[in-house]
Amino acid sequence: MIVILKHNVPQEKKEQLIAWLKKMGLTIHVSDGEYQTVIGLIGDTSWVDMDLVESLDIVDSVKRVSEPFKCCNRKFHPDDLVVEVGDVKIGGGHFAMIAGPCSVETEEQIVTVAKAVKAAGANLLRGGAFKPRTSPYDFAGLKAEGLELLKIARAETGLPIVTELMNIMDIPLFEDVDVIQVGARNMQNFDLLRELGKLDKPILLKRGLANTLKELLMSAEYIMASGNERVILCERGIRTFSDYMRNTLDLAAVPMLHELTHLPVIVDPSHATGIARMVPPMALAATAGGADGLIIEVHNDPVHALCDGAQSLRPEEYEKLAAKVFEIRKVVAS
Ligand code: PEP
Ligand code: MN
Repeated sequence: MIVILKHNVPQEKKEQLIAWLKKMGLTIHVSDGEYQTVIGLIGDTSWVDMDLVESLDIVDSVKRVSEPFKCCNRKFHPDDLVVEVGDVKIGGGHFAMIAGPCSVETEEQIVTVAKAVKAAGANLLRGGAFKPRTSPYDFAGLKAEGLELLKIARAETGLPIVTELMNIMDIPLFEDVDVIQVGARNMQNFDLLRELGKLDKPILLKRGLANTLKELLMSAEYIMASGNERVILCERGIRTFSDYMRNTLDLAAVPMLHELTHLPVIVDPSHATGIARMVPPMALAATAGGADGLIIEVHNDPVHALCDGAQSLRPEEYEKLAAKVFEIRKVVAS
């Protein structure tokens, strides 16, 4: 249920109302927007007397929220969420250009790529240290050492780092990571999501291989209901009938998610297509479609990459693409 207040309600009256609602055992979310204050009620609201609340002189209207996701519901937060990562902002008109290799391989590799993508305009560095691989015989990342190499690349470039966490036990190792990525395979690892909800750190939540938008939002809800409201959603392609590509990029998910939630929505055209030459057109389409950012795999030597070389752009290809993305952004923002 949401309670929309009238304009310019005295702070004291607002606080009285919130205290009264809290006494009913409900969790309260207050969203002070530029034009509206929305009070979201979470919990069993079935017995809240809507007519009584609506009759209060400071209340404009009361609405039931039928969707099962509340914390991430746009109805609770009319304004876009802007996630801050150091000086970088994501969402609400701020665009994330996340780029870097699929996996961190060597210091030279990650630092070279970090410098190149930064020069091209990237504002965050990606790189996997803990890699979920379909085959147990494939390179699964440098683990803790990979995190250290990412920190070196951050120190060299100033780019905040985004990297995947797969296991609750590894959380302490990620203390100095700027954004924790939850990969597609872990989107419904509910215990992990709850733990990440206890951190004071942005979480990049990727859509599962075969998950609906509602399921993605319910996973964001797990993180937010545990206390961490800084969630960024990522459309990275889903399993359909795609025969020539790794996945099917569900681009319409971007505007639909923007309707349903205030969380930033970014797109990963690398895992969505699995083919480097498909990445630029899909990145441009995603930008035109209103995405709040792109996460793109870039490698200095894709042919010898230990993971996902076929979908990785070379630094010079990324540079060309980034210039076009920035042009499209101007049109989208106008
Ligand atoms: C990745 O970003 O390297 C990755 C493994 O992505 P996803 O979880 O979307 O497959
Ligand atoms: Mn990858």
